[in-house]
Amino acid sequence: MQTDLYKHKGMRRALVKLLRDKGIFDERVLAAIETVPRHFFFEKAFVEQAYQDKAFPIGEGQTISQPYTVAFQTELLKLKSTDKVLEIGTGSGYQCCVLLQITPSVYTIEYNRPLYEKAIRFFKTYGLKPHTFHGDGSEGLPSHAPYDKIIVTAGAPTVPKSLMKQLNIGGILVIPVGDEKTQRMLRITRVQENEFTKEEFTNFKFVPLLGREGWSSDKG
Ligand code: SAM
Repeated sequence: MQTDLYKHKGMRRALVKLLRDKGIFDERVLAAIETVPRHFFFEKAFVEQAYQDKAFPIGEGQTISQPYTVAFQTELLKLKSTDKVLEIGTGSGYQCCVLLQITPSVYTIEYNRPLYEKAIRFFKTYGLKPHTFHGDGSEGLPSHAPYDKIIVTAGAPTVPKSLMKQLNIGGILVIPVGDEKTQRMLRITRVQENEFTKEEFTNFKFVPLLGREGWSSDKG
C-alpha cells in the first residue's frame, strides 16, 4: 500500500492545470483526476512519471492511458452520479478509479488474466468496489446490461454492435476506432431504440481491442 503525500497532491494539481490548459473543462472530471493518486498504479521508482501527461507500460504489453486521454474520454461520457457505467479494458484500474469518483456504479472487464488479477488486488487493497469481470469485453457485458455509459479503453477496428445494443435510450458509448496506428475518438448516442448519432473527435493511439468484435480472438 502506498501513501499519498503533500508533494503528490502538488504534482496532481500541476497535472490538472495542464489538462485545463489542454482544453478539459468538466469540473467533475478535473476534480476526479486531482483526487485519484496516479502514483499508486506505478512502482515506487517511477513516481515522477506518474504525474507526467504520458501513457506508461503496466506489463503484459499494455499501458496505463495518458491522463489527457482519460480526462478526454471521461468528459465525453457526460457522466452523472446516477449513471451505470461499463468500462472495457480495466488495465491498471486507473480509469476505473476516475469513474468511481463520479458514480459508484462501475462495471469493468479485462481480457488479460494477469492484469485482471492485479487490478482486483489493487481494488481490494484500497477498499474500492467496482464490479470486476474477466473476459472478452468487445462483446460488452450482456449479463449486466443495459448501461447508461460505456467507455472502451482500447482501439477497435469498428464499433461493436453488441456494445450499441447494451446502451440505454439516451446512453453514450465512447470508443476509439481506426487501424493499429491511429484511432479516431467516437461518441455514439442511442437516441431511440433503433436510432444512434455519431460524433467524431481527434485522433489517439491505443493498444488494440482484442476479442470477437475486436482485432483477434487470442485469449489473454
Ligand atoms: N483503462 C486502463 C487503465 O486505466 O489503465 C487502460 C488500459 S490499456 C490502454 C487497454 C486494456 O484493454 C488492456 O489492459 C487490455 O488488456 C484490455 N483489452 C484489450 N482487449 C480487450 C477486450 N476484448 N476485453 C477487455 N479488455 C480488453
